[in-house]
Amino acid sequence: MPVQLILLLINIAGEVIKFLTADQMERYRRNMLLDGVGVDGQKKLLQSSVLVAGSGGLGSPVAYYLAAAGIGHIGLLDGDTVDLSNLQRQILHFTPDLGRPKVVSAREKISALNPDIKISVIGQRMDEKNYKEIISQFDLVVDGTDNFEARFLINRACVEQRKPYIFGGVLGYSGQVMTIIPGQSPCLSCIFRHVPSGEAPSCDREGVLGAIPGLIGTLEVAEAIKVILNIGEPLIGRLLTCDVLTMQFMPVEISRDPDCPVCGGVDV
Ligand SMILES: [Zn+2]
Repeated sequence: MPVQLILLLINIAGEVIKFLTADQMERYRRNMLLDGVGVDGQKKLLQSSVLVAGSGGLGSPVAYYLAAAGIGHIGLLDGDTVDLSNLQRQILHFTPDLGRPKVVSAREKISALNPDIKISVIGQRMDEKNYKEIISQFDLVVDGTDNFEARFLINRACVEQRKPYIFGGVLGYSGQVMTIIPGQSPCLSCIFRHVPSGEAPSCDREGVLGAIPGLIGTLEVAEAIKVILNIGEPLIGRLLTCDVLTMQFMPVEISRDPDCPVCGGVDV
């Protein structure tokens, strides 16, 4: 065997051993078997940081699957405490967690699932004062919020800071997902120019099937991983709408609005 080849093999092996422990190799084996992931992709996941905005119905599957996949730093943001009416869909929280801060309950569950990752908790609601600073600490934001005010703040900060934002929303038997890459794709304000005024439809008033945030949150994680690894075709300029009553999954083409007050004029 040529000396150069032996040295190359030693380098590759050294790199793997240096970065991934035997436990990591075993824990993430099924990720690394995938085309487009491999050892390098797993390293990227371990080196990435993702903010999960909300530890409720959407945030639950999002936090579980990001943690299980080995996202190296996960931020959990939520200012609420666990209520009995949450447990129908917010599977991060169990009955003994009633009354506890959601971020504390959430951290316990995902750190038990994967002690290999760093978890930061932010036990407050996102508002005009804190949103830019919070988002600046992460590479990417996944939507687990339940209101348009928070989504518009996330959208604005992500466009300003050129960070990908995976949008998700649920209501009744349906949900939506879209991936926003500032400079490349339409943003939330290209679709909805303003925060809806008055009483917007909400799960509180109209209900939601618990499996819907499970479905939409899981799709959001798939999008986040694709964006981090730069693989596949993320939902850029496509709003995927899912309705489980009819089992219709329909991507709707969305264009950038050159006059958008948030992303108009923003280039790659
Ligand atoms: Zn826009």
